[in-house]
Amino acid sequence: MGSFAACVDMVAESVLASDVSSAKSQAGREEGSPPAIRLRRVSRNFSGIQAVDGVDLEVQQGEFFTLLGPSGSGKTTCLRMIAGFERPDEGQIELNGQNVLGLPPYRRPVNTVFQDYALFPHMTVAENVGYSLMIRGIPPKERQKRVQEALELVQLPDLGSRKPSQLSGGQRQRVALARALVGRPQVLLLDEPLGALDLKLRQQMQFELKALQHRLGLTFLYVTHDQEEALTMSDRIAVFNRGRIEQVGSPPELYERPATRFVAGFIGQTNLIEGSLAERCVGEAALFALRPEHIRIDLSEEGIPDGHCRLRGRICDTAYLGAFIRYQVWVSGCEVKLLAVQPNPGLNLQQLPEGTEVTLSWDPSRMHRIPE
Ligand code: ATP
Repeated sequence: MGSFAACVDMVAESVLASDVSSAKSQAGREEGSPPAIRLRRVSRNFSGIQAVDGVDLEVQQGEFFTLLGPSGSGKTTCLRMIAGFERPDEGQIELNGQNVLGLPPYRRPVNTVFQDYALFPHMTVAENVGYSLMIRGIPPKERQKRVQEALELVQLPDLGSRKPSQLSGGQRQRVALARALVGRPQVLLLDEPLGALDLKLRQQMQFELKALQHRLGLTFLYVTHDQEEALTMSDRIAVFNRGRIEQVGSPPELYERPATRFVAGFIGQTNLIEGSLAERCVGEAALFALRPEHIRIDLSEEGIPDGHCRLRGRICDTAYLGAFIRYQVWVSGCEVKLLAVQPNPGLNLQQLPEGTEVTLSWDPSRMHRIPE
């Protein structure tokens, strides 16, 4: 990972120096430049299925922006409408301030990386990467130079003559990335590009992609259903549910201040405290989100600071997570289970067994009120 970041530094500074500066000026975070992507009231219906329902969205120049949501929530349809592969039934789509609705995909200043890479199996890596340049009539010498630059950028400078079948999954993914970057798009659209990789490679590629995006100053629009991936990589995230956006925010904003019940449940694990339990804790029967790491577990009430909420309960489930122990606790006097995560006490100290009577406590300011 470190070597990739160093490689991106070197290559971007030497080989693509002019691209970087132009990308950055295009990336124009300067005042007044139009958003890289703007959607206004965009909708798309497939034979009665409302895939996208009145979506408004603005992605700023140079942002790493993620569309996150469960399967079928409309993320890919949004991305395909931006790329030009689908037409919205209603609404406007602008790229860098230009209305692109009438433009075919190849005339839009975007390129797409798909989950299945869509590489041509009979072509070499270099031919795959250079294909779009050939179609555009770029002369062979210039084409070769730009293909080599793109392969260096994704750390595959020596694999141009191989066929896709002779590559690992991670290498194929990088070739797909090089192919998308070679045309120097202003916006890169990535549809679950790491979905086919195993966990370790996936995590490594997350760092690599982020380093690349940051270095080149390009706008990335990234689609995933994996909330951890979205939190790791994104500047901002739009959370999709049933074709609509529930909330747009930075990873800490979404995690600390979820705007809806759905977002609170979808981003990380959370306890929803409402009704009589909320009244018992803070005197108000509203809806609150409380993250498991903010709940402390003790055998007695000793040492709990004044003013902290406290409840008695019984541990009904434990899970050893390495760095943490996760406890589920039945709260006495109401049919509610709360989740609490505690740092691992280490081998010398006991993990509390199921059935143990405990006191749960937390600072009430950690309870985030969700408007309903
Ligand atoms: P996933 O994470 O599984 O890819 P998604 O959030 O990207 O899901 P979409 O692929 O945009 O969701 O699909 C949204 C809804 O639209 C789904 O119910 C899907 O079945 C439907 N849909 C998408 N494309 C078509 C199509 N071409 N024809 C009919 N229905 C479609």
